[in-house]
Amino acid sequence: MRLLLVEDDPSLVQRLRSELERAGFAVDAVGDGVEAEFMGASEPYDVAVLDLGLPRRSGLEVLARWRAGGNPLPVLILTARDAWYEKVDGFKAGADDYLSKPFHSAELIARLHALLRRSRAQPQGPLRVAGFELDEETQTVIVLATAEAFDLTGTEFRLLRYFMLHPGRILSKTRLTEHVYDFVTERDSNVLEVYVNRLRRKLGHESIVTRRGQGYVFGIEAA
Ligand code: CA
Repeated sequence: MRLLLVEDDPSLVQRLRSELERAGFAVDAVGDGVEAEFMGASEPYDVAVLDLGLPRRSGLEVLARWRAGGNPLPVLILTARDAWYEKVDGFKAGADDYLSKPFHSAELIARLHALLRRSRAQPQGPLRVAGFELDEETQTVIVLATAEAFDLTGTEFRLLRYFMLHPGRILSKTRLTEHVYDFVTERDSNVLEVYVNRLRRKLGHESIVTRRGQGYVFGIEAA
């Protein structure tokens, strides 16, 4: 999942970036409202964490502009402690959730996972698709039929989660690459193939079907 982190406090960015990356997000961070608006409108993010007090353009205005432009990006806003009016203004501007500063990164990550499920109308609880269950805490996948569990590397986890959130759909290599890597990581579709094949070795070759010239389809049996 690609995440846009909009926050102007460098120490908070540093801490959150490593926590979020450990939780399997590919993170791009920006520190002002003008750049945030541009990035959110031009890159295909899955979710954004948006601080409201930002230089150059407020977080509320950034959010309102995204929504005015028809951008449905799920957005969690960071509000000042006890500033109830910021929450009200944030929801009016189109926020999907909020968290008041200071917060524990574990709560932020749990809320982001819930937000991603809601935005795709997935039931709450562990992600279960096509006979597999993904444990987002431990980054392992369980084959439900045999109860066999496999550890996943960070990239394998991000890729499989994206597949599991879009079962039965043709996903192009470009789309997968965009959602699995962050902005600065080198994007190479040959590398993607390597990861798809690693997942197949763990989950069975038929779990991910190749559609020549189009991309990959996950969970086609169950879909
Ligand atoms: Ca701020």
